[in-house]
Amino acid sequence: MNTDSKNTRGRKTSPSDFIRAIIAEDIKTGKNGGRVVTRFPPEPNGYLHIGHAKSICLNFGIARENKGGVFHLRFDDTNPAKEEAEYIRSIKEDVRWLGFEWGDHLYYSSDYFDQLYRYAVRLIENGKAYVCSLSRQEIREYRGTLTKPGRESPYRDRTVGENLDLFERMRDGEFEDGTHVLRARIDMASPNLNMRDPTIYRIRRQSHHRTGDRWCIYPMYDFAHCLSDSIEGITHSICTLEFENNRPLYDWFLDQLKVPCHPRQIEFARLNLSHTVLSKRKLLELVKKGCVTGWDDPRMPTLAGLRRRGYTPESIRAFCETIGVAKRESVVDIALLEHCLRVDLNRRAKRVMGVLRPLRVVIENYPEGKVEELEAINNPEDPGMGSRKIIFSRELFIEKDDFREDPPKKFFRLAPGSEVRLKHAYFIKCREAIKDPQTGEVVELRCTYDPETRSGSSPDGRKVKGTLHWVSAPHSIETEVRLYDTLFKDPDPGGEGGDLKAALNPDSREILTSCRVEPGLVGALPGSHYQFLRMGYFCVDPDSSDGKLVFNRTVPLRDTWAKIERTGKG
Ligand code: ATP
Ligand code: MG
Repeated sequence: MNTDSKNTRGRKTSPSDFIRAIIAEDIKTGKNGGRVVTRFPPEPNGYLHIGHAKSICLNFGIARENKGGVFHLRFDDTNPAKEEAEYIRSIKEDVRWLGFEWGDHLYYSSDYFDQLYRYAVRLIENGKAYVCSLSRQEIREYRGTLTKPGRESPYRDRTVGENLDLFERMRDGEFEDGTHVLRARIDMASPNLNMRDPTIYRIRRQSHHRTGDRWCIYPMYDFAHCLSDSIEGITHSICTLEFENNRPLYDWFLDQLKVPCHPRQIEFARLNLSHTVLSKRKLLELVKKGCVTGWDDPRMPTLAGLRRRGYTPESIRAFCETIGVAKRESVVDIALLEHCLRVDLNRRAKRVMGVLRPLRVVIENYPEGKVEELEAINNPEDPGMGSRKIIFSRELFIEKDDFREDPPKKFFRLAPGSEVRLKHAYFIKCREAIKDPQTGEVVELRCTYDPETRSGSSPDGRKVKGTLHWVSAPHSIETEVRLYDTLFKDPDPGGEGGDLKAALNPDSREILTSCRVEPGLVGALPGSHYQFLRMGYFCVDPDSSDGKLVFNRTVPLRDTWAKIERTGKG
């Protein structure tokens, strides 16, 4: 298919992917009266993850790009066992946070229970559905396998009258759970297992979060899903590849029922991300087993977790655009997601100084009690962000890692006798390292400073190679910082049957409690982003209290993706 189209000026405006190409063609040929209606249909049985973001960006993006396009948010809440109000609340919050608004188009499959019931009755009336009284186990045995055809149920030839009567009595609560189901009457010999008389209704005495105890029979997902799309007038039902084999069944339902709207289903490859799992079932397992602190643990690939970690909606949208959509399954390196994040935070984050593992520095030739205010630029990428004053004094903290008693070659930071620049301030030279007599650990550095170097260079042309970040010891504030690594050691932890818990990275979180940051950060609001010079991007965690700020390291500065691109290897 030629997917290129030309606008009136002859400039190419090719759709950016095969789904958009199909839709452009449908619009051109006047299908659905040229309308585009898409939807995002989550089952409210967990929090949304980054894979869902791909689907949301795609569906909403397509609706927005096309004139008059409409986007629906629909909860596919047909299963009464799993749905919880908490998940509905979080899904709405996350879709909005990602930057998408459904307006009046919020729907629930459960709102269609009456209509779906009537559809089922119509199938029975047309001889296309029957009440089957085999047990669940028997139904499974009769279904056959990929290599073996199924066997027909002994109940398959019940009369229409008998089926209507039984189905009504199922609805009225006359039978126990599991005694009967309603099945579509299709083809037990079909090579597609989905077509072997699938169950479309089952008895389940369970309250539903919206319909309460009004129903004791519930439609199966496959029946409800495609018909909900049709009821809503969805023109393009975009879903992931694992539903390719369900399409014939969906088409069968829609054809049998002669519905006015027959959505066109298009499948694309789901997002897989390295070093994590994107399955609500597995993520729920991590939450339930206490492997993480909750759905919004900053190590989770959920939107709530990514948000708490410090991801911005812009960075996630940019990521989704970068990966695009295709028909072939692949695994995206998590480094690409981090790369998109850095690009966004680089523009957005105010630079500050924060010392994660403080080492005290005393500047012996700096007068006791003297305090200077030095100018520091807030973001070299954005002059509009202005500058701030930082406080310099006789006692500072620097990063422990920035000092070595026996420096290796090319260690351009501080060592006995060496000189470095302090960012936005003076050159200092280390005279002596004071050690704890018991442990032998270096606890303080005695240094001198050169008052002539306040501009960041020396009038005598003396060069220093290292520039360190620092904070004033008496003025800085103590904070907690949580550092993260990938949740799993294994780049591909998702394999079926694998032990999820055993695959976890035991070092995925490190909590530092005695970090020091500039006093200007007092009162920083949860969710605000900062770059701690040389240390990475950080975000204020909601666990912060008036007394103590808590930061999450969103991502370190080193960009492994840029390196992969540069060198062609990880
Ligand atoms: P999970 O496998 O995480 O449980 P799901 O498919 O069961 O996901 P749903 O709530 O049914 O979760 O998903 C809503 C929509 O999001 C569906 O249209 C589904 O195709 C899409 N989706 C789910 N996971 C991904 C993914 N990894 N990449 C792209 N789209 C996804
Ligand atoms: Mg699903």
